Amino acid sequence: MIDTSEIQGTLPDRLARAITLAGPISIAQFMAAANAHYYATRDPLGSTGDFTTAPEISQMFGELLGVALADVWQRAGSPPAAYVEFGPGRGTLAADALRAMAKAGLTPPPHLVETSPVLRAAQAERLPGATWHDDLSTLPEDVPLLVIANEFFDALPIRQLVRTATGWYERLVACQDTLFLPIAGKQVPDSVIPDDLRDAAPGAIIETSPTSVAVVRALAQRLVAQGGAAIFVDYGYEGPAIGDTLQAMRGHAFANPFDAPGEQDLTAHVDFATLLAAARAEGAAVHGPIDQGLLLTALGIDARLVALSRAAPAHAEALRAGRDRLVTPDQMGALFKAVAIAAAPWPAPVGFA
Ligand code: SAH
Repeated sequence: MIDTSEIQGTLPDRLARAITLAGPISIAQFMAAANAHYYATRDPLGSTGDFTTAPEISQMFGELLGVALADVWQRAGSPPAAYVEFGPGRGTLAADALRAMAKAGLTPPPHLVETSPVLRAAQAERLPGATWHDDLSTLPEDVPLLVIANEFFDALPIRQLVRTATGWYERLVACQDTLFLPIAGKQVPDSVIPDDLRDAAPGAIIETSPTSVAVVRALAQRLVAQGGAAIFVDYGYEGPAIGDTLQAMRGHAFANPFDAPGEQDLTAHVDFATLLAAARAEGAAVHGPIDQGLLLTALGIDARLVALSRAAPAHAEALRAGRDRLVTPDQMGALFKAVAIAAAPWPAPVGFA
């Protein structure tokens, strides 16, 4: 991340001055600085925030992911294990997953990888016994890890490469007065562009997320060494591919990603194929991607809906609406996808095999 800590003022002021002093910065530096400020200064979730997520829509989401992890854990012989979540938001998913796990006799200590102090405080209310981590390097090393990440990788910084008439260039963020805007920066050698994309039309953009790849590599190494399984849910594609997916959300509407850094949520679609290749390179077994709707159906969301609706008939309509939003293909069911990593002898989670 660009170090603007010596410069006074708001984040846009500091970024503008850093760019004036040292030149345009990469999209990844801009996104990292903007999101670090954004998440550190607010709880962005829910109807009064900027966006909402699957665990905030229905308790069934976290419960079923908990059931999936409890099932792999049982099939792996029920060893002592730790629960790990990356970017746990308000802690809703973790609370729902841990409640469902406990019914299967699994009560792992929660370890939360979260950088935002505001969200850590929200998580502490729901998960009083949790341990927090800035990154995965401090996670326990002596037990298998049961890992979930929902809408985490989409928040990690991406680089963009843009094609012009004369070749491929790293896309950078420049600044004019107080306006941030993307420009074509330094040329990159054609050899770094995948063969089938090299001759794309001028204007084409390719994205990579070195930060996401580094997280997956390090996690896969841990799973290979310690055992365990990980499930990631996000919206994404099987790349590398052409496409500019950098987007900003503010008040549940799309905004210009270069406006108001630190005041709106910046995300990019996740390249699942590249993340799974990174895990495979570390010796882990990889599964998916599978559509979120298909996974939740395989995990029994319809039976869970019936049981919850019987127990709380007054909520039956809201429960059904939540189920539909998560599962139907024209809502979140097909846009969001799940992948799993499980190092042998840990089996693939239900729904993936
Ligand atoms: N998983 C939650 C929240 C998704 S929002 C849900 O589904 O509701 C993204 C989450 O990732 C937030 O908790 C945010 O603070 C966290 N986050 C973003 N960048 C991070 C980083 N670099 N390291 C750790 N956590 C990060």
